[in-house]
Amino acid sequence: MQTPQQQNLFDEPAVRAARILIDGASDLVFDYAIPPGMEGILPGCRVEIPLRHHTATGTVLEITEPQDTWAGSLKPIRRLIAPEPLISAPLMDMARWASQYYAAPIEQFIRCIVPEPVRQEKHSEKTHKVVRLLSKPSQEEETRLNKRAPRQASILHLLTESPDRTLTLKELGGTAALTPCRALEKQGYLTITEEEEHRDPSAGEDYLPTSALKLNEEQEQALKAVVADIEHADKKPILLQGVTGSGKTEVYLQAVEHTVRQGKSALILVPEISLTPQTLQRFKSRFSSLPGSVAILHSSLSDGERFDEWHSIREGTARIAIGPRSAVFAPLKNLGLIIVDEEHDGSYKQESAPRYQGRDLAVLRAKLEGATVVLGSATPSLETLHNARTGKYATLRLDRRADGQTLPLIRILDMRTEAKDKKYAGVLSERLRMAIDKRLARGEQTILLLNRRGFARSLQCPDCGHNVTCAHCALPLTYHITEDRLICHLCGYRAIVPRECPECRSSNILLQGFGTQKVEAILNRAFPQARLQRIDADISRRKNAVRDILGQFRARKLDILLGTQMIAKGLDFPGVTLVGVLNADLGLCIPDLRASERTFQLLTQVAGRAGRGDLDGEVIIQTFTPHAAAIQFARRHDTDGFADQELDLRRQFEHPPYVHLAVLTLRSTKEELAEYSMHTLYRRLVKNLPPDILVSEPAPAPIPKAYGQYRFQSTIKSHSARRIATCVSQEIAAMNAGDDIIITLDIDAYSFM
Ligand code: ADP
Ligand code: ZN
Ligand code: ZN
Repeated sequence: MQTPQQQNLFDEPAVRAARILIDGASDLVFDYAIPPGMEGILPGCRVEIPLRHHTATGTVLEITEPQDTWAGSLKPIRRLIAPEPLISAPLMDMARWASQYYAAPIEQFIRCIVPEPVRQEKHSEKTHKVVRLLSKPSQEEETRLNKRAPRQASILHLLTESPDRTLTLKELGGTAALTPCRALEKQGYLTITEEEEHRDPSAGEDYLPTSALKLNEEQEQALKAVVADIEHADKKPILLQGVTGSGKTEVYLQAVEHTVRQGKSALILVPEISLTPQTLQRFKSRFSSLPGSVAILHSSLSDGERFDEWHSIREGTARIAIGPRSAVFAPLKNLGLIIVDEEHDGSYKQESAPRYQGRDLAVLRAKLEGATVVLGSATPSLETLHNARTGKYATLRLDRRADGQTLPLIRILDMRTEAKDKKYAGVLSERLRMAIDKRLARGEQTILLLNRRGFARSLQCPDCGHNVTCAHCALPLTYHITEDRLICHLCGYRAIVPRECPECRSSNILLQGFGTQKVEAILNRAFPQARLQRIDADISRRKNAVRDILGQFRARKLDILLGTQMIAKGLDFPGVTLVGVLNADLGLCIPDLRASERTFQLLTQVAGRAGRGDLDGEVIIQTFTPHAAAIQFARRHDTDGFADQELDLRRQFEHPPYVHLAVLTLRSTKEELAEYSMHTLYRRLVKNLPPDILVSEPAPAPIPKAYGQYRFQSTIKSHSARRIATCVSQEIAAMNAGDDIIITLDIDAYSFM
């Protein structure tokens, strides 16, 4: 028999708990009891909870199963800030999925969904107090106030001095000034009013509405197919493959318009570099007649603007959101369409925690929301092409330029025959020099591209163009001075440095590399009369420098623009009739399995920049490897041919998209500790990982030391990314490395540096 007391204990309902992410800098997660009356609480809700001796705020990550042992041991949630979750169910699902797939704590994704200013709610005050002087105190009154209430006197003084006798409370010293102001209000000296604050980031800009263009046949078909997908329950991601200038943007615009008119919302993701006033204007002017506003989510928004944009999207005031990869987390409701423009662009991959691929999350989000997703590009990534070819994605094509122009003529210049002439040190061929001279004489413009990713330590023969590669992976080997060895960064293979070219026996084989600054000096010598400007990573660190230079180039105050891949895409300059690629190979000589793909994309995109106006364009590509697939297929604008050949190679060598590949990096300020720990972790992995997950022997990273830390790497391959995430992070956790070691796992890595 039970005693009454025990009876009572058993009748008490089991305590349900909520796992809560506490706001603040570190990823604190604790469980709290759900008190009676708060049973309706959902993941994504915002709450107040007790934390030490304070009240903190946080977000509910999940509701956990009842457990008797918790009774009494958990503190209860103090207050539910709003009954409706701040984060929608599909976004919570996306965070959960991403956290498992990318092996990153869910907190990191929650922080992407609810940005800092929204979490802090500091900026929720959309109104501010304005104090207006009604009547000036007389001389007597002023003396009296000065003695009795000096603060009041000084406020009146400030107001009389101000231009229209009006100041905000903030200008009068903030909330501390409120009491004296209220006192003055009672005496009839002034009024205090609440006024709306306007923080429209595009305030003051005027957009002339534009109307839809009449679509050509190809565009018409593409739009029809997209609209059909929007209207059908049975959806499939769509690849819109259209040559540069084929009018993909017009298809996006009309598809978005259709979506919004149906009462749904639309999300447009663009590469970071495309968020220029030019592109934004194109979107804004078209959408200005649609219901709801357009929210622009770029990184330079102030906290207040970010707060406002976020809430206007969540409340549905803004029905169209445009932004870079992070906009994939925008809190749009009733999402009907997601566009990923230039889906192959590297900026969709986030290279710091949480490491994710924005394009892939866009596809996932569309699935979770029941929305249509369109991935557009002239040069789709091989991942996307593979998905299209296996039928996972539908393909729509635009094979002709919308304005009826032909694609520019591309010439390949073999630099092996030019290298003998040392005058321009292999930077400038005679042919290209003459072509530039011709443009200068005619007052036309030239873009010169230096294909350099800040890195060149591979071995290439200047006589035959041979590039020393790994026998197992076909990737260029990287020279490491510390070991005096060539190392493969994919499989760990090591080779001694050849004294002569293995192909042609030339002893001129050397380590390559030109900086933009050196090239600029050479060009200045060759064209002393030209107005030349360079854009590279150094320049772009200066605020507005890139924007200003591009503005000058557009206004034709410059003749030659020299730059890295930053200038290759998205820019439309009618005055440009010549595009020169100075060194097409360098992009091929980096230890990156996507080097060939990237070079092909870069050359095709840059070629698309020429001849956008009424004048025909010419493209000259200088190369030591004229027969490389990336160069030959780009010359013929043949994306399909390139994909056939490259996919074949990828399959042979078991590279993505046929496997998932992750990069495991271990960093430490202590070199020996880093190397030793990497080997310890490697041995653990080899011993404990299931046989379908392959780990390469560790090696120093291609950039072996950065930010004062030594870096060692292994690559990991498997047919399942999730298995890599689960199994490898288990081993990392079990290793229990000390504080002076940082380990990162980059799933579906894009960078191998
Ligand atoms: P993409 O995004 O495919 O590179 P754009 O959208 O930039 O191509 O289009 C290239 C040019 O063609 C733009 O100047 C655009 O205004 C124009 N254009 C697009 N569609 C049409 C059309 N149906 N009729 C006339 N011009 C068009
Ligand atoms: Zn050689
Ligand atoms: Zn290898």
